[in-house]
Amino acid sequence: MMGQAVGQQDRLFYEFNLEDRVPSNHLLRRIDAVLDLSWLRAELSPFYSHTGCPSIDPELMIRMLLVGYCHSIRSERRLCQEVELNLAYRWFCRLGLEDKVPDHSTFSVNRHGRFRDSDILRSVFESVVRRCMESGLVGGEGFAVDASVIEADASRFARVEGAEIDWSEEQLSRRAIKEYVDALESENAPINPDRKPKAISPSDPAAAWTTRGRYKVMFGYSLNYLMDMKNAVIVDVEATPTRISKEVEATETMIERTQERFALKPRHIAGDVAYGTGKMLGWLGQQRIEPHIPVWDKGARDDGTLSRGDFAFDKDGDVYVCPQGKALKTTGRVHDGKTLLYRSSKHDCDPCPLKPKCCPRAPSRKIPRDINEAARDHARSLNGGEAYNQSARDRKKIERLFGEAKRNLAFTRLRLRGLSGAKDEFLLMATAQNLRRLVKLVSRPPPRSVMA
Ligand code: SF4
Repeated sequence: MMGQAVGQQDRLFYEFNLEDRVPSNHLLRRIDAVLDLSWLRAELSPFYSHTGCPSIDPELMIRMLLVGYCHSIRSERRLCQEVELNLAYRWFCRLGLEDKVPDHSTFSVNRHGRFRDSDILRSVFESVVRRCMESGLVGGEGFAVDASVIEADASRFARVEGAEIDWSEEQLSRRAIKEYVDALESENAPINPDRKPKAISPSDPAAAWTTRGRYKVMFGYSLNYLMDMKNAVIVDVEATPTRISKEVEATETMIERTQERFALKPRHIAGDVAYGTGKMLGWLGQQRIEPHIPVWDKGARDDGTLSRGDFAFDKDGDVYVCPQGKALKTTGRVHDGKTLLYRSSKHDCDPCPLKPKCCPRAPSRKIPRDINEAARDHARSLNGGEAYNQSARDRKKIERLFGEAKRNLAFTRLRLRGLSGAKDEFLLMATAQNLRRLVKLVSRPPPRSVMA
């Protein structure tokens, strides 16, 4: 006999326990078992007034944001609707069935105010990293660094060619633009003063005009991750405009901060060739961190003329020696803050039979040498070794993290504008990814009796 559902939706009284409705293996139940936010209220208390109406509980907002980033819901308006309707979300946020869900506008007020002033999203991220460390997931031996481009909330069709915009008063009253204009005056300007961008977004000027994203050209920010290679835990995250120089600078910031906050200093670090600049390798050498990084090298020529590799460097004499045994000397002057030039003598080159293959269009040969060439040579010497090859394999885990963020968690376009908006979103995404990793590797679904 065919049954028929008989709904009793007009009942006034139910026997209902929210706790019983959330399955023991639900992601949020498992995250709840490892997440400790008991410290959060005390850390935020200096940012609240002692008088006036009670505010929305900040732990509730952080829990809602984590629900959103763990379940690909980044619209705050939609997040509020989902928490209103979804029992597991309510349970994770410590809301009862009849408790009121905060209005989406509350998030904006707190994000731009107390949360940013207190840097609470970084504190939440770091508390989760500490939890990973306590669980033995972080080895601290080898790190990997990489960056992935996330599209900014800025139309690629509405752009201004060149780096200069005459901002109106109305535009300057917008948060992202004011933040950008203020940052231009600071030490850490979002653009390189000696390399102005080709185009700028009038809605989010700190975003970089880039060809590295999912479209041919677009405005983007780089999601920079520093990952511990043992279990792919993200130990630091940084937002930068999508410019290689900024990504390399962010690596130094992340390594220093990880050492300061967690007393973690890797013995080696892996990265792609973008990180193999003389400056980066020189800095790693000073930090005594082995670079498992290919060297950024433009010395090879493919036009049949002699490459830099055909010239031997004599360290004691501080000269390059050409295939004809002649010395190329330097004046010691540093060009562009990073390069020494070694030149041969016209007197040697004029009668040389190799001149057509060496310097066919110049009276003598010139070899540039990075002031950090010794560090570059050291990086070259590590390339191909067993430890280097293992790092090259382990480094792929960081690409999988970016893949997870983009494909599984739909993190392809930012919702917040400005560098600080990107920073907030990146911290939340990294926290969500670490929590997912943590529960996958250590948490067992707790028995119901423990949770009750
Ligand atoms: S052209 Fe000058 S630098 Fe080149 S191989 Fe001959 S002598 Fe040496």
